[in-house]
Amino acid sequence: MSTCPVCGSQNGTILYSVDSDTAARRFSEGSEKNWAQEARSAIELTWGQQTCDYVRCPQCTFAYADPFVAATPDFYAALYESGAEYAEWKWEFQRTFEALALLKAAGRLPPFALLDIGAGTGRFASRILDRVAGCRGLLCTEYSEYGRNEIAARGMRCVRGGLSDVDMQEYRSAFDVLCLFQVLEHMDDLESVFSRLSHLARDKGHLFIAVPNHAQRAYFDRWGFHEDMPPVHIGRWTRQSLEVVASRHGWRLEEDEIEAECYLSKLRRLAVQYARGSSAFEALGSVRSRGVRRTLRAVLVAVFLITSFPAAYGLRSASLGSAYWAHLSKV
Ligand SMILES: [Zn+2]
Repeated sequence: MSTCPVCGSQNGTILYSVDSDTAARRFSEGSEKNWAQEARSAIELTWGQQTCDYVRCPQCTFAYADPFVAATPDFYAALYESGAEYAEWKWEFQRTFEALALLKAAGRLPPFALLDIGAGTGRFASRILDRVAGCRGLLCTEYSEYGRNEIAARGMRCVRGGLSDVDMQEYRSAFDVLCLFQVLEHMDDLESVFSRLSHLARDKGHLFIAVPNHAQRAYFDRWGFHEDMPPVHIGRWTRQSLEVVASRHGWRLEEDEIEAECYLSKLRRLAVQYARGSSAFEALGSVRSRGVRRTLRAVLVAVFLITSFPAAYGLRSASLGSAYWAHLSKV
């Protein structure tokens, strides 16, 4: 019986289970074979067993990996070694940028200091520094060396690691704006996460969070594609679960939104999910000619999309964009 990390309920139901081999293969796509074996050992060490369930809590609607344990910093370092995929400018960046402009216009954002947890290459933070008047201080954190170098090259300060590596004494009540973009779904020990955020934020500070959209993940689950793969994605957040844990630590939800993603982009996601799990798609990897290989794979994906018409058709729903964004303020 598992305990929900958000509300403590023990009435969760298992959505799906994964074994260490499946997880290791997912995280070693396109890398060398010995990394797959290393990844498998690391995953089993994290779980303390060979399998992991994904459980949904009916009480607060949070879904979580059980065991609820995050991957280690070493695992992430190896995962992102070959150069992570950093999007240049994401929807959640733009959404936060607009929210900050509105707060400024409403006189709710005096000269401010910003903390960007998991800042990637610092793309968002540097835009804020350049374009939003009144940014008086800025700190980033980032696990990947590549990202830290980029952040330093943009002239910004960066802590190596994540939220738990930010000095709690030095930065007590230091930040007016705190950002966690595509970070929270990776984190365990949620009480510690939110108590640290509260400690670092000044009163009436703002917290911006973006996570994968739970509705899209649940939709893909229905068709047998499980995008939330532990121990990397260990939490699937909803408005309700976010409010439950955040309110315990003095945060109030001000607004939230689901990304309005174009249909073709969602369709592409579905095709990628299919390609990942398809042995026929993988087998075509042995075709030598790049052109022939690509053509055959494209035909395979097209056949899949045509035969999976209901799955592709249902993606038209506006609630199925990729990201969920929330703006909270410290009471
Ligand atoms: Zn719960």
